Amino acid sequence: MKNEKFDFIIIGGGIAGLHIGALLSQHGKVVILEKSHEYGGRARVENLDGFKLDYGVHPIRFGPNSALGTSLLEINKSVSFIKPGKSWAFLKNEEKTFYPTGGLLAIIKSSMVPFIPTLKLLLNVKKMEEKDFRSLYEISLEDWFEKMNIGPELRKFLTMTSSAIQVNPFINRSSAGELLHNINRVLSIGSVYYPKGGWESLFTQFTQKIKENQGDLRLRSEVKEIIVEDGIATNVKLEDVIIKGKHIISTIPVQNLFSILNEDLCNKDFVSKCRNLRHTAGISIDFCLDKKISNIDGMIFMDEPLAFGIIPSNLSPEITPENKSLMSFLRVTNIEDIQNKSRADKLYQEFRDRILEIFPDIEKSLIQERPLFLNMIDGVEINIDQHQYKRPGNQIDNISNLWLCGDSVGGEGAGGDVGHTSVRDCYEKILGSITN
Ligand SMILES: Cc1cc2nc3c(=O)[nH]c(=O)nc-3n(C[C@H](O)[C@H](O)[C@H](O)COP(=O)(O)OP(=O)(O)OC[C@H]3O[C@@H](n4cnc5c(N)ncnc54)[C@H](O)[C@@H]3O)c2cc1C
Repeated sequence: MKNEKFDFIIIGGGIAGLHIGALLSQHGKVVILEKSHEYGGRARVENLDGFKLDYGVHPIRFGPNSALGTSLLEINKSVSFIKPGKSWAFLKNEEKTFYPTGGLLAIIKSSMVPFIPTLKLLLNVKKMEEKDFRSLYEISLEDWFEKMNIGPELRKFLTMTSSAIQVNPFINRSSAGELLHNINRVLSIGSVYYPKGGWESLFTQFTQKIKENQGDLRLRSEVKEIIVEDGIATNVKLEDVIIKGKHIISTIPVQNLFSILNEDLCNKDFVSKCRNLRHTAGISIDFCLDKKISNIDGMIFMDEPLAFGIIPSNLSPEITPENKSLMSFLRVTNIEDIQNKSRADKLYQEFRDRILEIFPDIEKSLIQERPLFLNMIDGVEINIDQHQYKRPGNQIDNISNLWLCGDSVGGEGAGGDVGHTSVRDCYEKILGSITN
């Protein structure tokens, strides 16, 4: 068996692995170990006859103002973040309605919500401090609606917002505190953006930085085991090589951590927290079209079923062949529904029918269609039992030099946002441990 040595071994070449790899490559020798034949993980891009398909609807929360934006600045790389235009809601029994995605004024002026109660709510949210949000983290949206006597229109808007912002349409468990916290962030730092050229442009920036700093990127390199000696993570074992590292960073979802780490090394509570962390699931449908059939350049929301979509080619035309169009839609479901084939098929059919009811021209222009049944969308569902202070953190008690980051670990926000904030937190802690 060959023996090699690095300062930082990063397990996983998804967006979190590439992100932290690019940052750490400024401070030592990095190797990224990715088990599959491509980078990107759950944000990977598929090229279908010139259509660059993100993995489902994939805008970036807060774009340049996100933790991801902070890192791009730090490593002197840039991605052009495109701000979507107006967003629209297609409500089952109504016309197409403007759907406000940010800005207090835009929200209160919307015909979807009652003016006075919404204004009162948003002014309160703007004033709330972390301790106020925290007191509501374990209260479900449903209970909070009751407690605050929220009327039906505002309920519907907040439920759609929970589905979109925290990928959780299930109001009996979606965390009211985290939703208000996330709305507060939207009011102060803005909404979503799309990377020009699609997600590939992000991977390129990070992989370039790693290469510029003589880092090593390896595909088809599955880590079989993290080796811990006397409480210190020292090596990782692959099929035919052992790699020694001063720091080992795992970016795989923590639900799978114990496929490569002996669980007896960790305390039982931590093991059970990781194993039982509920993630989000759903159905995604992408339509590759021979022409543009809609000018919508913002998000598309629907209430029945609760779902959302985007036409990324209206924001970044270079992701399709000339004059063609790509439309992507996502319906969040319970994991149990995705695992039950007949139930999943029914939900898919209902979802597809509704999209075609809204955009009947899709069928006439359809070149190809990609349905995806996704067991994991975000690594963690933002809910009352696993809000940001209850999720696993960046370190494991009793094991030093082993770090965790990615979208199932700590971090404020939701989805990719959790991933990027957890990367920044982890990076700062690693640097702190090196300088101390
Ligand atoms: C359909 C869909 C839509 C989404 N929409 C959005 C959105 O709009 N906005 C947003 O911010 N986020 C969105 N997300 C979430 C976002 O994609 C994820 O948060 C992000 O991709 C997670 O990245 P990660 O690096 O943390 O984990 P992963 O992408 O899971 O990366 C982990 C990597 O580790 C590799 N790996 C696993 N085990 C091993 C091993 N033993 N050895 C070596 N490598 C290993 C895997 O192959 C994988 O590449 C969406 C996700 C999906 C699926």
